[in-house]
Amino acid sequence: MHDTVLKGKSIEELKTVFQNMEEPSYRAKQAFLRINKHLAGTLDEFTEFPKSLRKKLEENHSYPSLQIIHSSPEADGTEKVIFSAGKDHRGKEILIETVWLVSEKRRTLCISSQIGCSLNCSFCATGTIPFGGNLDAWVILDQVYEMIRHKNETITNIVFMGMGEPFYNYENVIKAARILNDDSGLNLSARHITISTAGVLPSIHRFTQERQPFNLALSLNQPFSEKRGEMMDIEKRHPLWDVISALKEYTETSGKRITFEYVCIPEMNMSEQDALEIIKIAKKLPSKVNLIPLNTNLQGWKRPSSDEMLAFQKILTDAGIRAFNRGSAGRNVNGACGMLALNRKNRQ
Ligand code: SF4
Repeated sequence: MHDTVLKGKSIEELKTVFQNMEEPSYRAKQAFLRINKHLAGTLDEFTEFPKSLRKKLEENHSYPSLQIIHSSPEADGTEKVIFSAGKDHRGKEILIETVWLVSEKRRTLCISSQIGCSLNCSFCATGTIPFGGNLDAWVILDQVYEMIRHKNETITNIVFMGMGEPFYNYENVIKAARILNDDSGLNLSARHITISTAGVLPSIHRFTQERQPFNLALSLNQPFSEKRGEMMDIEKRHPLWDVISALKEYTETSGKRITFEYVCIPEMNMSEQDALEIIKIAKKLPSKVNLIPLNTNLQGWKRPSSDEMLAFQKILTDAGIRAFNRGSAGRNVNGACGMLALNRKNRQ
């Protein structure tokens, strides 16, 4: 179904679609606007297309949409949604999770890039469900479009921090980010689109070389390599200090700063030594640190108290590090960085 789907295509790809149908290429721009700016739910909303052209399009292409099959809205507007993206080649339903986070004037959407995740970070619920492959660009984009329609509000920020490792689905993630950034689409500033990786070294190099304009975040979670390897299996493939060197090169090339995401787990990564080592890392390159209290109870670990969060944050800020407590939004929906999918098991 993938290459016949009209959504998730660049203007260039849409030009090919219309050329193949022996239609003028200006139709590509019109279709791109309908799909990515006006968020058309069906081909009938392509009102500048004559009926005969809509019919011709329908005969050769599909125009699917993600379907909301479960949602958990909270009083503060935060909401986790489970979407169905149809069936995979074995006939199994493809389920993906997306979280709408509300914080003052910000409306941030945390989107998924894979079905489950091939990595298995020990604190992360996503890693516990079977990996089902990469999401196509249209499925990544439709999480955004369907959520805007569902909430009837626009978004200000996108974070690729839902299910999956975005840099293992590099092409589709970058393509989706470019379409979100396009001024014929939602025209979201690249500064408001953040891609978070657990540390896929070759993709960090590629991101730097291609001078991608989007923000980059590293899911750090433990500053000592050996202990990080116990929490995150990617550490064995791409050791932390190699990743830090690559990120430093990125900051030098791009002039941007890195965000370190740090899921706080009292027994695992909140000692004074851990804080001092984070300071050492954060001082090597322009950066900020987002502290996120654990949202899962995997391994029997518990969520840190507000006092524990404050004390840990204070060690960092006293050393001049920009460290923020991202504790509240998404907590009740088990959203927030790398901790989706916990309730799905219970639900099925
Ligand atoms: S934290 Fe991110 S990379 Fe690690 S298992 Fe979860 S989704 Fe995958």
